[in-house]
Amino acid sequence: MSDRGTQSAGTRTGRRLGRVGAVLLLVAALAAVFAPLLAAHDPSAPSGAPYQPPSLSFPLGTDDIGHDLFAQLVYGARISLTIGVASAVLATAIGLAVAVVAGYFRGRVEGPLMRLVDLTLAFPFFVLVIVLAAFFGRSLLITVGVISAVLWAKPARVLYSDVVKVREFQHVTAARAMGASPLRVLGRHVIPRLAPLAVSQFVRTANVAVFLESALAFLGLGDPTNVSWGSMLFFANARSAFLTDVWLWWIVPPGLALTAVLVGFAFLGYAIEERADPRLSGRRARPGPRRRDAGSTAAEPATPQATGTVLEVRELTVRYRSEAHATEAVAGVSMAVAPGRIVGLVGESGSGKSTLALALLGLLRPPAEVLGGRIMLGGRDLRTLRGPEGARIRGREIALVPQGAMSALNPAYTVQRQVTEAAALTRPDAAAAAVRARELLEQVGIARDRHGAFPHELSGGMRQRVLIAMAVANEPRVIVADEPATGLDVVTQARIMKLLLDLRERLGVSVVLISHDLPLVARTADELLVMQAGRIVETGPPEAVAREPQHPHTRALLTASAGIRAASPAPRPVRGR
Ligand code: ADP
Repeated sequence: MSDRGTQSAGTRTGRRLGRVGAVLLLVAALAAVFAPLLAAHDPSAPSGAPYQPPSLSFPLGTDDIGHDLFAQLVYGARISLTIGVASAVLATAIGLAVAVVAGYFRGRVEGPLMRLVDLTLAFPFFVLVIVLAAFFGRSLLITVGVISAVLWAKPARVLYSDVVKVREFQHVTAARAMGASPLRVLGRHVIPRLAPLAVSQFVRTANVAVFLESALAFLGLGDPTNVSWGSMLFFANARSAFLTDVWLWWIVPPGLALTAVLVGFAFLGYAIEERADPRLSGRRARPGPRRRDAGSTAAEPATPQATGTVLEVRELTVRYRSEAHATEAVAGVSMAVAPGRIVGLVGESGSGKSTLALALLGLLRPPAEVLGGRIMLGGRDLRTLRGPEGARIRGREIALVPQGAMSALNPAYTVQRQVTEAAALTRPDAAAAAVRARELLEQVGIARDRHGAFPHELSGGMRQRVLIAMAVANEPRVIVADEPATGLDVVTQARIMKLLLDLRERLGVSVVLISHDLPLVARTADELLVMQAGRIVETGPPEAVAREPQHPHTRALLTASAGIRAASPAPRPVRGR
């Protein structure tokens, strides 16, 4: 698939962008540090005749009262960068402290703290910063304070999610169980794990902080005693630089310098984020060699990955037994799902896809019976897990996006309440579950004003998104999405597929994507398994399977889809067993 290429180039691009960003910031930092050596004049005092054109002594000329514009530019780097970096340090430190207190110690503070985070995030930050700056007055320290007071919430929210996750890691639980003090657990296990994410948050925050400092200075709300790029633009604008040619030296250089620093932080932030979260890069390793398995009941696990396998099914056989006869709905199926991969499982109706999905979650009920095989998730055989132990896995380790978005949601409750209930599985604190639910709904693209809606008030695509939000509510390692796009129009189908791809990118979750629509799955999955009459009959990279189907059943599925797409009057039926 074409996006596979872009993805692997994406990591290389990430590194390249990171280097460009670092160079841009280094140049600005050197200018700031060596400003007294680079500039021949005092930036704050007139040192030449007004409106001088660029010369050796005044490389960018002078303004209307004779200030050296080059001196202002290099000294301006000091203020812009100092305020940007200091505000980002303070905001990230506050964010980290809030994340640790709320996410690690939890208890009574978690709800109120996270509500404060949400409240701060909900405010339009630019308006808030202007109001605070206008209220508190103008000095460097106040600018830093105001900017960090507005920007701490984003790092707090991002780091909080990680603290909650890291807290439940087995080694962290073990350290706690062995009686390690909270400070020791935090210092040795939790904070070191957060460090890369904290650094990427710092860079992102620095980016916004530099922008906010310039914006405040441009609005005349900065420290009047110090020259920054924003204040250069403020004076240029206030003193009508545009009426003369001098705007070229007065406005363009600080504008470019500001752009370069903002781009520098953005590029560096992107590269660091990619490094901080290995799930964001290199996950879409090329699939293994393609293999055709025409009708064998014992397909080997599909393309095991160097990254390991999160879910592995071996020789699974499920039968429905009724008085009249027995149907082997799943007959010796084997498959493997690597971390962060999307495995598409396609087949005609009745081929056993839903039975396999239910088996993966341990949800089969009589008359279904599992005759043999293993379902390994994280080293445990799900088939042998019973009762509460099995229930612990569902939702937390593997979750289902069930078929039929309308029937899977309770019509009597708002979607917010249903997602909150899902999130409450791992969050005993009701407020934290509600906060997480709102966050999840936003992540899947349901606007805040729709959170209180009942299922029937939403479109089919939105209901499907709600189900996906519920499935990822407790950060499972695998989600099994059973026909998540069936019955939706093509545009909505594409959006749902994109959402699954986004979630995989952001959460590193693996997806078993079940559908009868081969072309749709082929566009999304990393690997395709074609199922017929309970068996995997063909496996391989989606583009290859779609281009050169080897098995007659795959060809029939493709022809049927093509027929439907082209509104052919007589699409060829797909034959079953
Ligand atoms: P798919 O999801 O691919 O449409 P299913 O897993 O629903 O396929 O069905 C596979 C086979 O199992 C079909 O032959 C179907 O008739 C049979 N089957 C499914 N559910 C039951 C059931 N509750 N009782 C008896 N047979 C069933």
